Amino acid sequence: GDTLLGKAALVTGGSRGIGAAIVRGLAGEGADVAFTYVSPASEKRARGVVEEVEALGRQALMIKADAARADEVSGAVRGAAATWGRLDILVNNAGIYPWGPFEDVTVEELDRTLAIHARAAFLAAQAASHHLPDGGRIINIGSNLADRVPFPGIALYAMSKAALGGLTRGLARELGPRGITVNVVHPGSTDTEMNPADGESADYQRALSALDRFLDPDDVAATVVHLAGPGGRAITGAAITVDAGTNA
Ligand code: NDP
Repeated sequence: GDTLLGKAALVTGGSRGIGAAIVRGLAGEGADVAFTYVSPASEKRARGVVEEVEALGRQALMIKADAARADEVSGAVRGAAATWGRLDILVNNAGIYPWGPFEDVTVEELDRTLAIHARAAFLAAQAASHHLPDGGRIINIGSNLADRVPFPGIALYAMSKAALGGLTRGLARELGPRGITVNVVHPGSTDTEMNPADGESADYQRALSALDRFLDPDDVAATVVHLAGPGGRAITGAAITVDAGTNA
């Protein structure tokens, strides 16, 4: 497709999983795409994602930037905008999955999780707002666990993802007058390294869903690409759950 031809996008955490599927999906519709990653171990994979985008005839840019560090988050946004002289689409996707009894969560883990999920999304949006034109898009990747928590051990994760709902609605009001839309996509159980479809609790997660299945990262990317394209122009301040019916 070519619905995003001439657009420039930045996806945080694009080296693998859902983020990499979003990078490929946006490029598949014609966008040039920058993405961040953080682990030295992911460098090779990030290069693979760059090659996939280039094979689609689009430009790609990989940026090492830790979502837990404010300066690196805004630096990544500035870097992407400077490279292409524009930035039309921001996708806040980078994430981690802390798990365990809430009594055991350290202050460091609490701060780091809130920094990567909530603070980074806020700061990236703030940096991007200097560049986003009329028609610009901000899409946050939350979790269906932000709305419904069906098992213990994830209070911190659920809290950090629920914060994106407030950010999304607040920014929709701030940026609406400029013609910029802001939405949050809440995936359910998705087959990635974070949550493999053959993992220990995968059958339990499948049983929670109405469709009795895990999502493929492309299932989440399809909704992000829709929101980023012309079909998303009247959708803002919304939370869209893509979870095979788990929260039904
Ligand atoms: P993965 O663990 O497969 O990939 C995580 C991505 O985020 C990687 O690209 C990773 O980079 C990047 N990342 C992690 N920490 C940082 C950081 N500090 N700075 C920059 N980048 C970072 O996860 P998923 O693809 O499964 O998850 C993507 C998003 O979707 C997350 O926000 C997650 O919470 C959410 N989600 C996932 C679900 C699932 O079932 N998989 C369900 C609901 C929501 P690197 O490769 O360098 O480590």
